[in-house]
Amino acid sequence: MNIHEYQGKEILSSFGVRVQRGIVAQDAKEAVDAAKKLTEQTGTGWHVIKAQVHAGGRGKGGGVKLAKNLQEVEEIAGQIIGMNLVTPQTSAEGKKVHQVLVAEDVYYPGDSEPEEYYMSVLLNRATGKNMIMYSTEGGMDIETVAEQTPHLIFNEEIDPAVGLMPFQARRIAFNLGLSGAAFKEMTKFVMALYEAYTKSDSSLFEINPVLKTSDDKIMAVDAKVTLDDNALFRHKDYAEMRDTREENPVEVEAKAVGLNYVDLDGNVGCMVNGAGLAMATMDLIKQAGGEPANFLDVGGTADAKRVEEAFRLILKDEKVKAILINIFGGIVRCDRVAQGIVDAYKNMGDAIKVPIIVRLQGTNADIAKELIDNSGLDVHSAVEFQEAADKVHEVLA
Ligand code: GDP
Ligand code: MN
Repeated sequence: MNIHEYQGKEILSSFGVRVQRGIVAQDAKEAVDAAKKLTEQTGTGWHVIKAQVHAGGRGKGGGVKLAKNLQEVEEIAGQIIGMNLVTPQTSAEGKKVHQVLVAEDVYYPGDSEPEEYYMSVLLNRATGKNMIMYSTEGGMDIETVAEQTPHLIFNEEIDPAVGLMPFQARRIAFNLGLSGAAFKEMTKFVMALYEAYTKSDSSLFEINPVLKTSDDKIMAVDAKVTLDDNALFRHKDYAEMRDTREENPVEVEAKAVGLNYVDLDGNVGCMVNGAGLAMATMDLIKQAGGEPANFLDVGGTADAKRVEEAFRLILKDEKVKAILINIFGGIVRCDRVAQGIVDAYKNMGDAIKVPIIVRLQGTNADIAKELIDNSGLDVHSAVEFQEAADKVHEVLA
């Protein structure tokens, strides 16, 4: 689950990671109040107004702006809230901004060169270890750094049995070219950051930039945090951070009925049980000359109600020209699934306007095929994987 920058900073801060302080605001008036409060707390006169959307590159899209007085706070917050922010990480339409973070300006005026670093914590799936990836080249696209100056990106791998060792934090501070007070601050920052990562059950932290101020403070100016959905049950407070306005509406609906659905760009809807089979089915569709319109794992109980819910989700996508149902009847018998498909189809009246190809394999597959073939509906049955692919090819032609 992705969360907003301000929420990510709340989590970091709760583990003792120094962050650029800020207060979230829903409209221009709240932004002014937030700015006044921040001035009381921090003494800052200047503020940065930052769009809160689930996408990076906001600065480039005009979603991060400096305000030098309260009037500018009001003007800029008014501009940003409600705008469709287009960044290199959003679609061409952009993302609607519902709220801004009013943050203290931490790039002190007169600061000759505030230093910006890049730092992320993530799981290296190849080694099965967490790692801290960091670079002296902060504040810019890490992809560009990786392409043009890969030697400026460092990795520190962490043994899961012992956790991050202080010497590793010192190595990071050293490689970033720090000394004196800033060196100490950085080791503290890195240790706290790693603790926050593991204790919050996150799957990604990306802090870009990490800032060194002219008085040698190290702080997180940005925070992209991805929480592990499977661990949210033990972080009720984090679960509440979910902002469904930022998510694909069909995916939100699918989640509410317990279906695993991921929206894709293609023209063939898929309904499959099991994530592995769903992946294989998507490959099959590609081979047949189609493009999967979605990933959908209906799980173990493919009864009429579930099949109907799945149909409704798939059909919300107007690009869908055919639906391929590929179910392995192991625990659930194929004839029950087939009956579910027929019942769901009939229940939906004439809502289904695209051809459906059904491949059922496993227990009672023969009875299932008969049920489908005798239903009188626009449903094509297939027995073999390839046969199903050929039928998809046929109906798309
Ligand atoms: P992103 O563009 O979505 O990654 O948003 P960031 O939070 O990283 O902000 C973008 C850029 O705004 C940063 O790289 C900084 O250069 C700049 N910025 C952030 N905070 C401040 C601030 O307090 N003062 C000034 N002057 N610039 C800031
Ligand atoms: Mn950033």
